[in-house]
Amino acid sequence: MKVIVLFGPPGIGKGTIGALLSKRWNIPLVSIGDLLRENVKNNTEIGKKADFYMKKGELVPDEVVFEALSCKLDEQKNNKAILVDGFPRNLNQANLLESILKPEDRIILLNLVADDDLLIERLSLRRICKKCGAIYHLKNIPPKRDNICDYCNGELIQRDDDTPDVISRRLSVFRRETQPLIDYFGEKHRLLTISAEGGPEDILARIEQTGIWE
Ligand code: AMP
Repeated sequence: MKVIVLFGPPGIGKGTIGALLSKRWNIPLVSIGDLLRENVKNNTEIGKKADFYMKKGELVPDEVVFEALSCKLDEQKNNKAILVDGFPRNLNQANLLESILKPEDRIILLNLVADDDLLIERLSLRRICKKCGAIYHLKNIPPKRDNICDYCNGELIQRDDDTPDVISRRLSVFRRETQPLIDYFGEKHRLLTISAEGGPEDILARIEQTGIWE
């Protein structure tokens, strides 16, 4: 199995690109952020533990994330490839991921990069469908009708952690805990670095040009 890890700071577009790639390549997408938000919404034991950290923009403790993730990954183990958005986010999580894969499995890091100004703009203009989770950007990917999802007519909302102070906390957590991973993890696995400037189709084209399936 190929495990394609979508790597990059908050706001870079991992969720949008992950959903498009999942459709185009017909492989499953596991988003840790979505998984945790679902648990918070359903007020599960995992959700109760995660909520406190997510509200502040801090990483949820590894054991809680791993509990939420491990059965999801196990469900997907017979696929030829999967996309993972939001994991690993620190060194311990990288080791955990390596430890659950089989020797023949391959990890590919899709490292999306862009300037901070672009990330902050994308996060502040991001809107999410409350019902189906579709992601919009008020300028680049606007809904056809104001505040209404094109796919399910659900209401579009701003995520609780897309406020300016939580955004800046999430960016600094990324720099401190997640970014350094790229040196360690990137040396051991295949690393593809892609500019995330422009619209989703531009980014997709760059990803496919890397020859990721070769
Ligand atoms: P995201 O949807 O990827 O932006 O994640 C939203 C929030 O979920 C993060 O700010 C963290 O609080 C939490 N989270 C997501 N992935 C992880 C992870 N791998 N480890 C710890 N916390 C995470």
